Amino acid sequence: MERQAARKSDAGMRYDVVIVGAGFSGMYMLHKCRQLGLSAVVLDAAGDVGGTWYWNRYPGARCDIHSMDYSYSFDEDLQQEWEWSERYSPQAEILSYVEHVAERFDLRRDIRFDSRVVSASFDEDANLWRVVTQAGETWSGTYCVMAVGCLSLPQTPNFDGLEDFKGPWYHTGLWPHEGVDFTGLDVAVVGTGSSGMQSIPQIAKQARHLTVFQRTPNFAVPAWNHKLGEEEVSEIKDNYAAFRDYARWSESGYNGEESHESGHDVSQERRIAEFERRWAVGGFTVLSTFSDIGSDLEVNKMAAEFAHEKIRQRVKDPQVADLLCPTNHPFGTKRLCVDIDYYETYNRPNVSLENLRVAPIEAITPDGLRTTEKDYKFDAIVFAIGFDAMTGPLLNIDIKGKGGQALREKWEEGPQSYLGLSVAGFPNLFTVTGPQSPSVMTNMMSAIEQHVEWISDCLAYMQEHGHDRIEAGEKAEQEWVIHNGEVADTTLYPQADSWYVGANIEGKPRVILPYLGSFGEYRKTCDAIAAEGYRGFELDSADRAA
Ligand code: NAP
Repeated sequence: MERQAARKSDAGMRYDVVIVGAGFSGMYMLHKCRQLGLSAVVLDAAGDVGGTWYWNRYPGARCDIHSMDYSYSFDEDLQQEWEWSERYSPQAEILSYVEHVAERFDLRRDIRFDSRVVSASFDEDANLWRVVTQAGETWSGTYCVMAVGCLSLPQTPNFDGLEDFKGPWYHTGLWPHEGVDFTGLDVAVVGTGSSGMQSIPQIAKQARHLTVFQRTPNFAVPAWNHKLGEEEVSEIKDNYAAFRDYARWSESGYNGEESHESGHDVSQERRIAEFERRWAVGGFTVLSTFSDIGSDLEVNKMAAEFAHEKIRQRVKDPQVADLLCPTNHPFGTKRLCVDIDYYETYNRPNVSLENLRVAPIEAITPDGLRTTEKDYKFDAIVFAIGFDAMTGPLLNIDIKGKGGQALREKWEEGPQSYLGLSVAGFPNLFTVTGPQSPSVMTNMMSAIEQHVEWISDCLAYMQEHGHDRIEAGEKAEQEWVIHNGEVADTTLYPQADSWYVGANIEGKPRVILPYLGSFGEYRKTCDAIAAEGYRGFELDSADRAA
């Protein structure tokens, strides 16, 4: 098939692939489609490429995976030529990288921006997905790839009185492009997850006074961020292939030290020494100090106590330090934050911390905010309250499969998918880093590349074998769903009220959303399924199906 460039007027034509989302997933998917000679168009609500990095422009936003890992590996020249400046890249630098990739591979000409997709439905007779945007345009394709991201649907603040607030309010996930100057203002931040922990130290530097409203303290590990040195970079670049290969087959999709040692099998002295050593390295390596931190509550408690001690060392006021120590969930079972100056921020005279567990927010008032105990005056409010994760971005689109079945209905009690890549009853639909795939538990770049490559290999296989319809089988899907639950039950993750289990969204079913098994093992499973002629999938041609 000859690739045809999409223009606005092409909305009526039939593509091979309609891709929803122009972040890292959608961009790479487009690139792979072109290589296969397939016609493809990408639709995105944003004004440009970047996905999560386009929207999350709040002060302090940066990645929590090392820069040398958090980048595309598919193009040797690209990875050799691009220069990352810091250990953890700030949002602006990642966005420049995304823009560079879009330029370099001439991607924008097949991307339609300002095109929010509202529905996608499968026409069985025509073997065709019809993807409709808010503006009412319909884009049709044999295949539809949902590359919508895992954390792209911000949770709307639904506090009483918000509409009457006289000042500006912001959601970290929808930050104004022009930036915000908090100089001299009294500011409130609600939420202390990764976005809160990153923005709070920056906002504190500008604000006259910053009041942080915390419902649940979260665990954080130090970033020890620094400028990347030439030697550090060339050591990796000289061996980039091996570096990437390690990530591809690792537990979590990045280069980090794993552990095969139980926390029970070492003396107290060695245990502390090992925590200290990992702490000094910083980042997620702390989470794998012992192989059973995520599965054995006793070992986990050792990590939690160690982290508490570190908080107490950094925060001068013991009462504030206590308030910042997480005690209601095991270490790392809510997404661990990688912090820069977070705890020290509470030593500043212009920062105070309020405990929403003691006094919840009753309402936003015209002049600020009222808890059950007190009235506060604020010039601006920042909501760092997170996202309807993983299923949210998919269910926000009215997706209908065979027989008009709605995904919203099928997933009423939680997601059901085969490999987090495909859904029974929804032929020719692929989900990049969908629920029940490793996705957010790994380096997203590794997860994205693995999915996009698996999908494009599958499309190539179908071309070669004269197929144009693929659908996950019910049985294979059910087995995968059960397997997900079984793996989750061997971990401590279900114990936390986290977005991993949908607990942050009212009314959302409590189901573990990402696949919690090893990323490397998951890759092997996906590869084996493909090698066995896509075991568990039904492949056909629309002609024969008819
Ligand atoms: P989040 O982790 O879900 O944190 C939201 C925070 O807001 C929590 O402290 C939550 O409290 C609080 N909250 C939510 N609703 C509230 C309400 N009605 N009243 C008071 N407090 C409320 O969201 P996030 O910080 O945006 O992070 C989401 C994910 O995005 C992260 O876990 C991470 O995977 C990703 N992320 C990554 C980076 C990075 O790479 N460094 C940066 C930002 C985000 P509870 O805990 O009590 O629910």
